[in-house]
Amino acid sequence: HCFSAEKCFDMPPAAATALPYPSIGLADFELLDTLGTGSFGRVRLVKFLPAPVGKPIYYALKILKKSEVIYLKQVEHVKTEKKLLETISHPFVVNLMGAFQDDKNLYLMMEYIIGGEFFSHLRKAGRFPNDTSKFYASQITLVFEYLHSMMILYRDLKPENLLLDKEGHCKVTDFGFAKRVEYRTWTLCGTPEYLAPEIILNKGHGFGADWWCVGILSFECLTGTTPFVSNDPMEGYRKIIKCRVPWPAQLSMLAKDFIDRLLTVDPTRRLGCLKNG
Ligand code: ADP
Ligand code: MG
Repeated sequence: HCFSAEKCFDMPPAAATALPYPSIGLADFELLDTLGTGSFGRVRLVKFLPAPVGKPIYYALKILKKSEVIYLKQVEHVKTEKKLLETISHPFVVNLMGAFQDDKNLYLMMEYIIGGEFFSHLRKAGRFPNDTSKFYASQITLVFEYLHSMMILYRDLKPENLLLDKEGHCKVTDFGFAKRVEYRTWTLCGTPEYLAPEIILNKGHGFGADWWCVGILSFECLTGTTPFVSNDPMEGYRKIIKCRVPWPAQLSMLAKDFIDRLLTVDPTRRLGCLKNG
């Protein structure tokens, strides 16, 4: 990587890009709670100081340490995350309001999604009823349909990357692994339990890998666990490739059929990848 820290976002330090605020820096925010921690930084709740008195504005500020981003060889992923988020506009995807940087960090200023992680809600509930699961699966399906129409693979669907807004709708966050593609891509990324067989088998993967994840997520919503669990990653991968889904009795016929069609090893025969989508 011939890359210098200052150029992480391809712009002069301390300059901001996207609208609605043309020049913005860390001094414009009061840092509040930590909303979540990731691999090379954290997401903080921040109060926007230039907001009019009596009308506070809050954002979620994703702070990425440049040294960590470089050390973990995530420079390209981080650049892509920002670039893609700038082009995406969808009611079920978190909205990027701006981006800036200083010597140490990169900052992504996002709308603050107040309902917390889907993950926490699912763990608290144990599992969701059929209709609830269907509601979330539909929203994710709309997001993927939109992203795929723009030739963007999401590649990191999991309950930790879904947030719920104040009305209970899904917001997809974390485009750190997303990628614009022509047809197939070969990089290994994503979360082990959610990896599609063609990724594990290194056959190259396209939009089908995201649809596979919708199957895993739907299964996890309805049962509380992912279908291919193991403490040993290799054993977990073997289970995914064999694809013997441990169907619990409580699943409805239609839910089972839906998930079964998504969890199809051959991506060309998987629901979502067929002639009519
Ligand atoms: P990483 O790439 O490190 O996984 P994420 O973008 O997934 O970082 O953010 C880490 C966590 O921060 C998320 O799992 C979520 O809990 C929280 N978070 C991220 N974005 C927002 C947001 N816009 N509003 C509220 N919480 C957020
Ligand atoms: Mg994440």
